[in-house]
Amino acid sequence: MTDTAATVLQPLDIYPWHEQARLRMQAAETSERFPHAVLVHGPAGVGKERFAAALAATLLCTGRGQRFEACGECADCMLCRAGSHPDLHWLRPLEDKKSIGVDQVRVACEKLAMTSMRRGFRVAIVQPAQAMTTSAQNALLKTLEEPAPRTLLMLVTSQPSRLLPTLRSRCQRLEIACPTTPDASAWLQRETGAAVADGLLEIAGGAPLRALEIAPHFEALDGQMSALLQELLAGRVEACAAAADMMGDGLPARLDWLESWLALVIRARIAATGTHVTIRGGPVLQRTAGEVNISAAFRLVDRVREVRRLLEGSAAAQLVIEALLVEVAGLPGRKGVSRWAP
Ligand SMILES: [Zn+2]
Repeated sequence: MTDTAATVLQPLDIYPWHEQARLRMQAAETSERFPHAVLVHGPAGVGKERFAAALAATLLCTGRGQRFEACGECADCMLCRAGSHPDLHWLRPLEDKKSIGVDQVRVACEKLAMTSMRRGFRVAIVQPAQAMTTSAQNALLKTLEEPAPRTLLMLVTSQPSRLLPTLRSRCQRLEIACPTTPDASAWLQRETGAAVADGLLEIAGGAPLRALEIAPHFEALDGQMSALLQELLAGRVEACAAAADMMGDGLPARLDWLESWLALVIRARIAATGTHVTIRGGPVLQRTAGEVNISAAFRLVDRVREVRRLLEGSAAAQLVIEALLVEVAGLPGRKGVSRWAP
């Protein structure tokens, strides 16, 4: 998601699950106790960036009167729409980099410390905040120690634990959580005009916008990953070949598929006797689930998450995936591998 004109001027509660966050910010504004720094956190795919952008546009809007929503018509809204509001600063990794450096933070902090170019708030949004280097986070801390009046710093992140504790503690936490499964399902159905495929929301970790993104490719993804896993567990394909198949643009969704498959396997193993948990991918994978070592499955879930973090850095993606798949192939236990052939 980017700070395109369309997203900046969306209402704050365009998504029903943003309602609580909007109410909290509105209450803070009404009571004139608006925080200087907000940590907007929650899982990937719930629209945190859009919320931050809409909140910035709301605060910058000079035509909204008592409403807590950008009017979309005043000069400030026009500037937001054009992506050129002088009091709104976005900090993102530069095009050829994966991290947000200390120099970027210093420039933004200087802008926040200056008098407003117009007459309202000055806002900086750091997205994704966990991309800041340690020195960048330290530089930001200095600004937060003596915040200028009517300034707002928003740190948007799905991994708040990767921020310095001192930085986190200076921010008001604002969580954007996933809606309940029935609410997410109903919303998805309205958006796509179709029934929600079984397993789609699970693969998206319950996050509606992530599910919306995966939906058009879901069938192909499910088919490819089921086949890949069957071949891998049956020992008919080497981890390096399987890793090559997982690479490409769809890699994040394939990792999501794998994690949700492992979660189902774990659920099947801990379910009460007689409870049936359907495992995606047909009878072979269903049989596998019955024999998997549960602690190995838990370890693998951690590994998948670690792999995601590694891939955000400079790690060689295919080697990382290959190492992961070697572990997946060994999931049923060394003796068991050949038994997974259909
Ligand atoms: Zn306006």
